[in-house]
Amino acid sequence: MIIENENVISVSYELTVVDNGEETLVEKTEENNPFVFMLGTGHLLESFEKNLMGLKVGDKFDFVIDYKNGYGERDTQNLAQIPVSAFQDAEGNIDEEMVVVGNMLPMVDSEGNRVNGIVMEVNSEFVTMDFNHPLAEKDLHFAGEVLKIRKATEEELAHGHVHGEGGVHHH
Ligand SMILES: [Zn+2]
Repeated sequence: MIIENENVISVSYELTVVDNGEETLVEKTEENNPFVFMLGTGHLLESFEKNLMGLKVGDKFDFVIDYKNGYGERDTQNLAQIPVSAFQDAEGNIDEEMVVVGNMLPMVDSEGNRVNGIVMEVNSEFVTMDFNHPLAEKDLHFAGEVLKIRKATEEELAHGHVHGEGGVHHH
C-alpha cells in the first residue's frame, strides 16, 4: 500500500526551521506517539502531502518546503495595535504574566474566529500583536519515517478526520 488520497497515515518526524543559518527544532513526534492524519482533507500544507505521496511503510523522508510553499510571507497587515483596556480585568488590572513580549495569546477576531497572536510590544496605551503564522517566512525541514498506512473508513471520510489512534474520539 502506498500513500495516496483518503489514506490515514502515521508518521514520526522532526520539523526544524532554518533562521539566520541556524537550525531550530520546532516539533518532534515519536514512534510511540506519531502524527496521524488523513491525506487530502485540506488541513495540511499541500506541499507536505505532495512530498509523502507514493511512499510506503518503512520509507524515510527528508525534504524542505520553502516558505513560499509553506506559511508564506510575514504581512505587516497581520500586526495589530490593541488597546491595553482589552487586556484588563474588571479592576483595570492587566495579567502581567500573560501580556509579556514573546508570549502567544489566544484571541478572538472581529468575526469571532479564534486566533493566536504573539505579543510584540507593550506600552501604556497599546499592546502590539503579531497574528502572522509563527512559521511564516520560514523554510520548513521535515525528516521522518512512514509508520502506518491504512484506508480511511466511510465514517472518517464523512467526518473529514481520523478516528481512533491519534485521531478524534467522540463516539
Ligand atoms: Zn468523527
